Amino acid sequence: MELKIAGREPNSIVDGLGMRYVIFFQGCPHHCHGCHNMETWNIKGGISSSIENEINLIEKYIGYIDGITISGGDPFFQYENLLALTKAIKQAYNLNIWVYTGYTLEEIQSNNMSEGLDYIDVLVDGKFIQSQKSPKLPFVGSSNQRVIRLR
Ligand code: SF4
Repeated sequence: MELKIAGREPNSIVDGLGMRYVIFFQGCPHHCHGCHNMETWNIKGGISSSIENEINLIEKYIGYIDGITISGGDPFFQYENLLALTKAIKQAYNLNIWVYTGYTLEEIQSNNMSEGLDYIDVLVDGKFIQSQKSPKLPFVGSSNQRVIRLR
């Protein structure tokens, strides 16, 4: 399936530990009230890319970044592409990978998407809940979300 992304941020310090290269996936089914990325919801929006293209674009930042973060949108909305991209990043660069998702870890596991976790080091899970908004908590938007170290 064609990879659809909303954008890239090669130098982020707010999407995980250290300096991170962030890829924002297009498409999100959660529609959280208060979402700041509504333009990422529609899978027909965004820009077309490929796994190979994303891997090539990362190359010039090797040595400057501490890892890759995949956010969105919800990367698990393009599950096959998420699996292929995380696997390719590990094989090409062996960088640590953080993934942000609106699903909980348990929802991923019970919806036959566990294989998508195989190459993820840290999962930040759960929908954004505006009434639990927590600007002081690191790396999350609301206090229900968890920073889960998978490996
Ligand atoms: S999961 Fe993220 S991108 Fe999707 S609606 Fe919720 S806050 Fe927005």
